[in-house]
Amino acid sequence: MPKNLVAMSDLSNEEVYELIRRGLELKNGAKPLAREDLFVGNLFFENSTRTKHSFEVAEHKLKLNVINFETSTSSINKGESLYDTCKTLEMIDCKILVIRHPEREYYKNLRKLNIPLVSGGDGSGEHPSQCLLDLMTMYERFGKIEGLNVVIVGDIKNSRVARSNYNILTRLGAKVNFVCPEVFVDKTLGQVVDFDEIISQVDVCMLLRVQHERHDGQVIFDKESYHTGYGLTLERYKKLKDGAIIMHPAPVNRGVEIADELVEAEKSLIFEQMKNGMYVRQAILEKIIRDNNL
Ligand code: ASP
Repeated sequence: MPKNLVAMSDLSNEEVYELIRRGLELKNGAKPLAREDLFVGNLFFENSTRTKHSFEVAEHKLKLNVINFETSTSSINKGESLYDTCKTLEMIDCKILVIRHPEREYYKNLRKLNIPLVSGGDGSGEHPSQCLLDLMTMYERFGKIEGLNVVIVGDIKNSRVARSNYNILTRLGAKVNFVCPEVFVDKTLGQVVDFDEIISQVDVCMLLRVQHERHDGQVIFDKESYHTGYGLTLERYKKLKDGAIIMHPAPVNRGVEIADELVEAEKSLIFEQMKNGMYVRQAILEKIIRDNNL
């Protein structure tokens, strides 16, 4: 079976640190692997700006041949299954597939494939490459993950970013608390705390977008009251410790989960996360190539 990266459980703690360190090395100017003989397919069945394009840039930096699968003009619209689509790409010599799909654990139906998969997100399941860029950003700033005090704020229940980060951060010895309205609680994850009580204690304040696309119209939502109750307002920002950082996987809804003027505030690493994503995705692809002897 190919060595995939579809969830953080695919990686040992050591492998996580290897990817973080390699991402930082690449950021500091190390030369990436160059493999102009390999083809990689990007299949995005859900909206994406950062993940899709930073994977694409990462692939070009590794000199890979990139096939951007067109979901809207492909035979998926003629009823072809995801498995048959991926098998087709395997048969025409694609060596890696990067897939984002709205179905949680979509990759379970692809087990018979003989081509490594890198997930760009599976519905509300996991988002491993985002999680690795988050870890790289924390490690770059603090020089460690163990012992960090992290609060994740927002739509925890529907967020693949929250799930991936919770799993690995706790495994690596960080403390993770959540802040969210009752309707966004995920009881399988860590404890929910009061934002105004925790804010002054955290090293990392990670904000998440409300995942409206997964609510089926069932959640009553008001931007202003959400911002007052659960957003990073200027008052809350002022309570953060000196060295604390703000993170957000983006897209950001300014004025909802974070006040407009704080998106690029001194403590915000939101745009730096995007840069780190390009490097960590190169590291991921290098690892997939190596681990699968491609
Ligand atoms: N871009 C992230 C994701 O794909 C976060 C978000 O969409 O809110 O999960």
